[in-house]
Amino acid sequence: RGFFDGLAVQPADALLGLIGLYRADTRPGKIDLGVGVFRDDFGHTPVMRAVKAAEAMLLRDQETKSYLGAEGDVRFAELLAEVAFGAGPDRLAGVQTPGGTGALRLGAELITRSRPGATVWIGTPTWPNHAPIFRDAGLAIQTHRFFDVASAAVDFDGMIEDLGEARAGDVLLLHGCCHNPTGAGFTGAQWLEIGRLCAARGLLPFIDLAYQGLGDGLEADAAAMRGLMDALPEAVIAYSCDKNFGLYRERVGALWVQSEASELVRGNLLALARSLWSMPPDHGAAVVRLVLEYAALRADWTAELDAMRARINGLRAALAASHARLAAIGGQRGMFALLPLGPEAVEALRREHGIYMAGNGRINIAGLTLDTIPAFVAGVAPYLS
Ligand code: PMP
Repeated sequence: RGFFDGLAVQPADALLGLIGLYRADTRPGKIDLGVGVFRDDFGHTPVMRAVKAAEAMLLRDQETKSYLGAEGDVRFAELLAEVAFGAGPDRLAGVQTPGGTGALRLGAELITRSRPGATVWIGTPTWPNHAPIFRDAGLAIQTHRFFDVASAAVDFDGMIEDLGEARAGDVLLLHGCCHNPTGAGFTGAQWLEIGRLCAARGLLPFIDLAYQGLGDGLEADAAAMRGLMDALPEAVIAYSCDKNFGLYRERVGALWVQSEASELVRGNLLALARSLWSMPPDHGAAVVRLVLEYAALRADWTAELDAMRARINGLRAALAASHARLAAIGGQRGMFALLPLGPEAVEALRREHGIYMAGNGRINIAGLTLDTIPAFVAGVAPYLS
């Protein structure tokens, strides 16, 4: 009997398994809509131009790799806060984190420290890593309705009804923009209602902003989050730079907490960071800092981000026009759409047409091109009731 016989076997990561299957597929017309990374017309996930330029500067000018601190690159977080929140946010404590995942986990650990065993409300469906992150930090998960797959629409009434069970001190997880996996978002009026609900019921909003700039633009994608932060005294924001700077494997993110107790929160964030990862990896954050610091790099980053967004939204419009059951995709935003396909249909599309998507029917829209949309729609159409 070994020490580790208390462990249960873990399921393999389905999405990563899909990468291997796709690679082994020799059919020329195969289409990869699985893993959630931006792709250009050639199926590449490029290093952004401004990122390359900043990396060249780092290689040339960086004089030390000595430790920073648990907060990471302070200037990075200041400059990124301006992108996320606009000028001069106060009552904010912020630190650099290893990606959006690290930010979510750090925020979850902070909540656990203050309110052990607190409940986090999570809409269904959501990014599959959300529940494990909060659960592994010791928080309780409750789900509420969010998206109705059959009608491809937000089930706001269902959400409000389910949140009727929420109690003061509960946490409400919200995607700031570009919902993963559905692409569906709240209307302005619905965001206002969510703000009122949080205020009236004493819920803490925890906003996951992982795709700023990839929906309707940098400002528009932050608007709902900013509105909520104006309306409420307290909020937690987990930010990822991994999509909008194309830095995925470099693991760049930040966590901000809005409260009247900024210094207390900040001290606890640093203490938690020290025991979780001591300090975050530097390279990607240093790149983001340089991109945001130098006007020319910043302009080029924004331009390339605009082009990425235009590509995604162009594909959305084309998909929406291609089939009546896909019409809602045109009004949704971000990299993903959730199709009303069961696991058998997803499997059959892979086998018969070389169309690869996540098992729940999520497609990465950036994996399409205007040229492959007809073949994709022809393959999918028979399964759309
Ligand atoms: N939140 C959401 C909604 C995401 O889709 C992702 C990435 N898939 C993350 C957070 C985490 O991003 P990162 O890669 O920066 O950890």
